[in-house]
Amino acid sequence: MSKRGHVIKAVERGSIAEELELEPGDEVLSIDGHELEDIFDYEYYVNSEAILMVVRKKNGEEWELEIENQYEDLGLTFENGLMSEYRTCKNNCIFCFIDQMPPGMRETLYFKDDDSRLSFLQGNYVTLTNMSEHDIERIIEFKLAPINISVHTTNPELRCQMLHNRFAGEALKKIDRLYEAGISMNGQIVLCKGVNDKEELERTIGDLSKYLPYMESVSVVPVGVSKYRNGLYPLSPVTKEDAISVLDIVERWQKTLYKEHGCHFIHASDEFYILAERPMPEEKRYDGYIQLENGVGMLRLLETEVEEALKEEADDDAIEEISIATGMLAAPFIENHAKLVHDKFPGRTIHVYPIVNHFFGEQITVAGLITGQDLIAQLKEKSLGKRLLLPECMFRSGEEVFLDDLTRQDVQNALQVQVDIVKSSGQDFVNTVLGHVKEKKPSYDGYELKEI
Ligand code: SF4
Repeated sequence: MSKRGHVIKAVERGSIAEELELEPGDEVLSIDGHELEDIFDYEYYVNSEAILMVVRKKNGEEWELEIENQYEDLGLTFENGLMSEYRTCKNNCIFCFIDQMPPGMRETLYFKDDDSRLSFLQGNYVTLTNMSEHDIERIIEFKLAPINISVHTTNPELRCQMLHNRFAGEALKKIDRLYEAGISMNGQIVLCKGVNDKEELERTIGDLSKYLPYMESVSVVPVGVSKYRNGLYPLSPVTKEDAISVLDIVERWQKTLYKEHGCHFIHASDEFYILAERPMPEEKRYDGYIQLENGVGMLRLLETEVEEALKEEADDDAIEEISIATGMLAAPFIENHAKLVHDKFPGRTIHVYPIVNHFFGEQITVAGLITGQDLIAQLKEKSLGKRLLLPECMFRSGEEVFLDDLTRQDVQNALQVQVDIVKSSGQDFVNTVLGHVKEKKPSYDGYELKEI
């Protein structure tokens, strides 16, 4: 049987690989006698002063290439970015958002990944339930870090119930192994009312704080409850009282842990502060915005960046009417930012439209889950001015497609307005509002539902 190879997709111009006459379609079979399990093996073995690489050319010839790369990147991209199949999750979590999506959306959105390699490559959170001892050993050997872990609770029995996986409690022991090996970690808790809140939350924070300093941070995010929960575990959305209770616990732990360790460690997402109607924490409490990807500190950071960016701008006397659409959650904050811009640039009229999420249900308030059809339905009678600004998180990563497969062009056509996409920083916000950027091919971070 012929050896399994990794098919080359592209060869960078001017690279070592091009010099060696490697081409798309050729297959890398081994490096220094090691067959390559995945991208981590490749990165590990290629990172050497001299290597022996065996390649099968498209015509079937096998080449042995002695490469002195002095740690340079060879310039190869592979057809499968992971150089291995993606791992699906072995859980059936009571709060899984994928189970709460309507049928008929594109297939890739229903893929449930739980792959530690994606944790290192793109920051995904993993439950550790499908990781073998071999996987743990490779993380330790290759010193891969940080690994982002969906913990949810440190109560083993409760974790089995929440993840609907009888091995989920046992899997927590892998955190001990990573801690003992000095591997950096971040944790996440999806807070489900009446399940892992109150005493259970206290217990989880206390247990995880024992992994400091290698466990660098933990976020608490509220469960998302869509209107498609028929037949699923009965979960209620987080209320104002629930949010106050979570913040009381989180803020108390922050004070204690800051005194002991010089970092706040546990962070509640912005949504809790909005629900509790409490002011966002001051900047230093976010420990360098370590949990930004989980919606922790996004609004505080945006406010600071908008204020900074506006200081650099002088009024250009331009007159323009524009509009911004966003989710219900962020709308009051975006309105404040729009007012700051208007105060400095009185010629700019800026309408901010909060969009109700009819697609997933009104309980879903984040901008990243707004669809093209909700935008069109709710904006068609509105004054939109010359341009409509939409945040990049509404679009599929690297493309101009909404979750419901409508495109930026579809929305432009339906609303008869130019749609500009706002990247995530405050400087981008100010530039796009003022029309100082002409972006056509933005690089997006993508939906909250990460696709692969
Ligand atoms: S929440 Fe994540 S780990 Fe749980 S079932 Fe869904 S995809 Fe799997």
